[in-house]
Order: sequence, then structure tokens, then C-alpha cells
Amino acid sequence: MSTAPLGSVRGDLAARAAALDAADPLAEHRAAFVRTDGVVAYLDGNSLGRPLLATRDRLADFVGGAWGDRLIRSWDEGWMDAPTELGDLIARVCLGAAPGQTVVADSTTVLLYKLVRAAVDGRAADGRCEVVVDTDNFPTDRYVVEGIAAERGLTLRWITPDAGGAVTVDQVRDAVSERTALVLLSHVDYRSGRIADLPAITRVAHDVGALALWDLSHSAGSVELSLDEHQVDLAVGCTYKYLNGGPGAPAFAYLAARHHGRLPQPVQGWMGAADPFAMGPGYQPAAGIRQLISGTPPIVGMLPMRDMLALVERAGMPALRRKSMALTGFAIEVADALLAPYDVRVASPRDPAARGSHVMLEHPDFRAVTAALWERGVIPDFRPPHGLRVGLSPLSTSFAEVAAGLGQVADLLTPR
Ligand SMILES: *Cc1c(COP(=O)(O)O)cnc(C)c1O
Repeated sequence: MSTAPLGSVRGDLAARAAALDAADPLAEHRAAFVRTDGVVAYLDGNSLGRPLLATRDRLADFVGGAWGDRLIRSWDEGWMDAPTELGDLIARVCLGAAPGQTVVADSTTVLLYKLVRAAVDGRAADGRCEVVVDTDNFPTDRYVVEGIAAERGLTLRWITPDAGGAVTVDQVRDAVSERTALVLLSHVDYRSGRIADLPAITRVAHDVGALALWDLSHSAGSVELSLDEHQVDLAVGCTYKYLNGGPGAPAFAYLAARHHGRLPQPVQGWMGAADPFAMGPGYQPAAGIRQLISGTPPIVGMLPMRDMLALVERAGMPALRRKSMALTGFAIEVADALLAPYDVRVASPRDPAARGSHVMLEHPDFRAVTAALWERGVIPDFRPPHGLRVGLSPLSTSFAEVAAGLGQVADLLTPR
């Protein structure tokens, strides 16, 4: 418990925030985002990234140009290739993956379904009938894999993470066997923000001949990744979180080149066929990553993420990651100084290398506090049972926003 008067603690934190913002090499990029007066602190960029100013023009130009002027000719002038062209861009900027292995399509949920089915069906011939998953994964991941287990008669091996939210390498080693078809995990945990040991867990899966599928929804654009180097087999992720693709923007899927042609996905559609416009009698899959496409690509939804990917590439993932660790570190510093006196608990790792770009704080009153914060223009999100999740998108968030936002959290808590 701090003995200094609260006013001077807050003054010190505000001064520290100002100094950190002044020294931030990425600070200039904040001006690239749409800002409105009503928002005091946006602490939910991990759930829905802010739009970029450039996106306004891009959307207007699209209506007058590629769509309004070029009309259906645009399918031949770039739209048909957009899923793989944009996939390659995400791969280069965020995933540490060579071209030809990433596609943009569908939603994360649907791509996850397609990839899990592809993986387990591809391994079924070897008599592999188990999937390793964890009980704390994001609901959609658990629901999708439960559905597929029922559909295909698979057994799920559930790992229960420790109290800190980690799925450890040892837990995975204990859960896998020669019966395992697939290990499905999130890289950055959506609640605790804890980063799983992707290289070691992928190796453990491979040691028993299983495949590893990583959900990168909270990693893409916030944490550096090297999917090729670490021999990841499959991956999916969102583009509306740290890639600022806008609400409902399509997802991305990665399938390592060594698996192309060997793991057929289940939603066979004309756009993933070898020659969509032959309109022939039977399905012949396209070669390479295009086979993951099912129907007509969501071109409109792919527009905004291009602006963020360009900005992320300009800033560079290493610099972005440094700022992310500084922001989450500062959030924990503010929580220790202002919120610990109210018995708020930091539920994310204190080691910056072990966490993604959000910090989970816990307190029994946080459901009501979050609702009150939103009315004041301070926007984190609430995750049951009593977590206040502070998401800090590195290119659009200032240290001052963190101090101001968490200051209002303290205002709304009553001493216990
Ligand atoms: C946000 C998130 C999703 C979202 O899936 P949608 O199909 O886009 O709704 C999936 N998995 C994880 C781990 C997430 O954090």
C-alpha cells in the first residue's frame, strides 16, 4: 500500500507517462488513426483496432474506382488474387512465413474449422484419433473442435492450464501420444495474455508425429512470429484486432507448403477449385494455398487491413513489440501504484517477454466498473468472471492514455 498521498502518486504517473510518450520512437504514428473527442482512453485495440485515416479514403476510392468504375472487370484486375496477395503480405509483415502459404478468407471460426478438419482427416489414415486442446482456449476454438470430434468420432485430450493461464510444454508432452492427430492452442492467451512456448510445443507435437495448429488472433501484429523457422504446420488468426481490419474483417490461415495437397479442407467450393470458370462436373482442388478458399473472396472486408499492414511494415515488428512491452509494463506499474490499494490483482505475467499486448486485471467489481468506464469514454473490456482487460495496440496507444484510463478505474473503485 502506497503511503504517498494519492494526488502526488497520480502526478508522478502522469509525468512518467509524458516522458515515455516524449521518448517513444513510434509516437508519430498515433496521428495516423481516426480520433474522436469522446474517447479518453481506448484500451480495447486488441479486440477491435482503431481505423486509420487512410482507410476512409481507401473505402471511398473503392466505391468510385475498383467497384464503381471498373465493375466486374476488377475480378481480373486484382480481386481474384487478393486472398493470396494479402495473405503473403500478412506472412511477410507479421508471421515470419514465406509466400504461398497464407490466405485471407472467411472468419477465424470458419477457417479454424476448415484447418482442424483438414488436419485430423489428413492424419486419420495413420489411426490417429485424438486432438489435444486446453480448457481455457477461446470459446470458438473449443466449440469448433468439440463439433469436429462429434462429427469424426475423435477423442479430445483436455489440458487444464495452471493458475497463471499457461499451457506448459510438460503438460503437452503428457497429453500427446502416437494417437494424437493434432495439438490446437492459442499462442497468446485471450485472458491472461500469456505467451505459450510455440517452438517447444510444436516440437513436442512433431516428436509423436502430430501436427500443431496455432491460433494467432492475439499475436498477429503484436508479437513477432517465425512460423516457418519453427516448423508450424497450420495457423489461423483475426485481422480486426491488432491488424485493424474493421468489424468482421476476414481471417487468415497459414498452411505450411510441405502439407499442400496432403490435407484437403472440407468446404469444397468453386473458388478453391483448380479452374473456377471451367465450371466442370467434379471438384478438382486448386494447387497450393488457394485450395483453402471456398466461396467468393470478401473483397470489401479486405480493404482496411491493407492500411494497417503498410503501417506495421513501416514501423517494423521489432519496434512495435518493444513499444508493446513498454506499454503493458507501464500499465502494470500504474496498476501497482493506483489499483493495488483496492485489491486489484494483476493476472498477466510480470515478465514482459511472457505476455502479449494486453494486461488482465481482476477485481470482483469490474463488471460494473467497466460499464461505468465506457460511459466516461474509457474503453477496456470485461471478461468473466471478473477481469478488466486492458488491450494496448502499440501504434495507436499512448502512455498518457494508459495513465488516464487506469486513473478512472481507481476513481470508480471503493476501498474494500
Ligand atoms: C477473437 C478470437 C477469435 C474470433 O473468431 P471469429 O470467428 O473472428 O469471431 C478466435 N480465436 C481467438 C483466440 C480469438 O481471440
